[in-house]
Amino acid sequence: MSNTDTLTQRESALLTRLSESATLAMARISRELKSKGFDVISLSLGEPDFNTPEFIKEAAKKAIDDNFSHYPPVNGYQDVREAIAKKFKRDNNLDYTADQIVISTGAKQSIANAVLALVSEGEEVILPAPYWVSYSEIVKIAGGVPVEVLTPIDTDFKLSPAQLEAAITPKTRMLIYSSPCNPTGTVYLKEELEALAEVLRKYPNIIVISDEIYELINFSGKHASMAGLEGMYDRTITINGVSKGFAMTGWRLGYLGAPKWMADACTKIQGQFTSSPCSISQKAAKAAVEADPAVTFDMKAAFLRRRDQVVADLKEVPGLIVNVPAGAFYIFPDVSSYFGKAFDGKTIQNASDLCNFILEQEFVALVTGEAFGDPNCLRISYAAAESELTEAVLRIKRALAKLN
Ligand code: PMP
Ligand code: GLU
Repeated sequence: MSNTDTLTQRESALLTRLSESATLAMARISRELKSKGFDVISLSLGEPDFNTPEFIKEAAKKAIDDNFSHYPPVNGYQDVREAIAKKFKRDNNLDYTADQIVISTGAKQSIANAVLALVSEGEEVILPAPYWVSYSEIVKIAGGVPVEVLTPIDTDFKLSPAQLEAAITPKTRMLIYSSPCNPTGTVYLKEELEALAEVLRKYPNIIVISDEIYELINFSGKHASMAGLEGMYDRTITINGVSKGFAMTGWRLGYLGAPKWMADACTKIQGQFTSSPCSISQKAAKAAVEADPAVTFDMKAAFLRRRDQVVADLKEVPGLIVNVPAGAFYIFPDVSSYFGKAFDGKTIQNASDLCNFILEQEFVALVTGEAFGDPNCLRISYAAAESELTEAVLRIKRALAKLN
């Protein structure tokens, strides 16, 4: 008798509460369609289409030759953490010592460590929506309660101090936001963060996760860090990594800087999950963070050109409301004017229907705004070649024109 005959095929209670990552799901569906020969343009997954810079690859090759093949310390190699501490000082004026840094298998794991280490069962985590897909699900894994606060497109998707204050309850443990933001591209100015910090200072038990993974893809000027604001250092976890700015998504390397007790808590969690991040990726990341950030500016310039192109093209599409993103590589148009319209007897009820419709009709893969907590929008990643982007917008326009 095989195991499957005797075991009920039953998922854990946790799994039944959890959604599949919508970004990764759309990437999977696009790959499947492509492998069947369909001409899919995938603007679903948020990753640079550039290759990792040569000097970083060289550092990784050297690490292999130098036999960095053993388990590293759980929180990462001392020299790499020192290099990250220097980066935080150089770019963000944040003073972290190497023992306040925890290196992880992608910024995603850094966030998961922090939430698992600091949020208890039933505690609330405020997520200004639109938020990055995985925040809500990671909070659920920790037993926390995601509290979504919808920020409208006409305020550039920015959380106001009044909205923040209204969402705080005695159970609030954490606020998580990203700037530049995935999925909106919104960048908080220092004075806007300061206004939020003014509210938070009244509630000393709330921890902030400031996700700065898109720091290097900011078209609006200066990057601001929550931890640098008065009274915030002791309760902010600053997340960053090399995936986006250095085109290193596959290397799976992220990091955080935090007060020592929080860093230790994250290390304890990591020690039970992945032991440590990959030795070779760490050495590659060291080369990245030690480099002058100017080495990434060509990629940023390309993203800016593409942003301008896609924004201009999308503005020509009837019925879309397009916000101009100040950073990252996403555009998050409001598509709600198409809800209630139909094609071939099928009515589009929401952003997920529209996303599926565009994929089925014209083979352009996008991600529904519902996954990011905003059911009126769709996310378009413009980290793709200009020619592909032009063709994608033409196809989107063609699909939408079929609806009436
Ligand atoms: N935060 C945000 C806002 C993201 O978009 C991503 C996507 N990759 C991550 C964190 C995770 O980054 P990593 O690939 O380093 O895990
Ligand atoms: N963060 C990227 C995205 O939003 C990569 C996919 C993921 O990790 O969710 O598309």
